[in-house]
Amino acid sequence: MTAQVAERVDDDPLDAIAEPVPCVRCSNGALLTIVGRCPDCISDMGRNFPDEREAWKQELTAAIESREE
Ligand SMILES: [Zn+2]
Repeated sequence: MTAQVAERVDDDPLDAIAEPVPCVRCSNGALLTIVGRCPDCISDMGRNFPDEREAWKQELTAAIESREE
């Protein structure tokens, strides 16, 4: 059973998506980034850097709008 799971993981295309991406803000690798920021930075901005968070939200809005075209 364990061997079967390992084989399936090797062939899983989602594996490539789960590669850590370096955060543009703190450079830590993160499995999930939103317009380049890792979840740690997003919560840090939300608590401590409202101006930075506002700029990030505008980038996020722009990214969503360009995807919709
Ligand atoms: Zn970060």
